[in-house]
Amino acid sequence: MIRIGHGYDVHRLVEGRRLILGGVEIPWKLGLLGHSDADVLTHALMDALLGAAALGDIGKLFPDKDPAYEGADSIELLRRVDSLLREHGWTVGNVDCTVLAQAPKLAPHVPQMREGLAAALGVDVSQVSVKATTEEGLGFTGSGEGIAAHVVCILVNRV
Ligand code: MG
Repeated sequence: MIRIGHGYDVHRLVEGRRLILGGVEIPWKLGLLGHSDADVLTHALMDALLGAAALGDIGKLFPDKDPAYEGADSIELLRRVDSLLREHGWTVGNVDCTVLAQAPKLAPHVPQMREGLAAALGVDVSQVSVKATTEEGLGFTGSGEGIAAHVVCILVNRV
């Protein structure tokens, strides 16, 4: 049995925050605002995985009103999502992530993001794609107000 999932997330860019994408801290004058570490890519990835398994979403699993998740490491949350999937018999077939950001340039950081995400999911790096694009100066990502991420995934259940 295979299932497809889709996840989408947005966080606002502000001064005085770290920029963490796919578990990688990227040197930049702005960072993403959020209750956790605001790793928009990892959040979209978790929602894609949970969506494919019809197990809810990260808002339900890790409520942003809960102080336990203040400043939370999203890679650690991804490990927990992966454990939940495995409890239900699901393994990751592949994930394909697209980050929408006008700046900074993300390509140099993509190999490290893929390695970290693959390690958290216990899969080979070849099963994890990360791509980055600008939106040509258009909309909220183009103006630099925020960063968005889309993720699609396939889960496989051999039960
Ligand atoms: Mg989020």
